Amino acid sequence: MSIEKEKKVIRKMIEIYCKGKHKTYHQLCEECKTLLNYSFTRLDLCPFKDNKPSCKKCPIHCYSPEMREKIRLVMKYSGPRMIFYTPLEWLKHKIEEIKHS
Ligand SMILES: [Zn+2]
Repeated sequence: MSIEKEKKVIRKMIEIYCKGKHKTYHQLCEECKTLLNYSFTRLDLCPFKDNKPSCKKCPIHCYSPEMREKIRLVMKYSGPRMIFYTPLEWLKHKIEEIKHS
């Protein structure tokens, strides 16, 4: 999974979450925008880039506890709704990863 592809998936998940939970249309609320920017920055700063191991195995736990909790909620909510957008196997893996982190 490349960084670019991962970004697309994260954006989609946050969009689904924001629309469903915060009742926004066509654009993200401030809170979700902040979360999205934060996630993108983490990815940009990831020293492993395209050779990134799964975040669970990564020696660098780069999300702050607060942001990690937020992204966890987003994935929990949007994960099951993402099957139309992303390979199912990857998604399962990602959800497991978040659950156990
Ligand atoms: Zn929102």
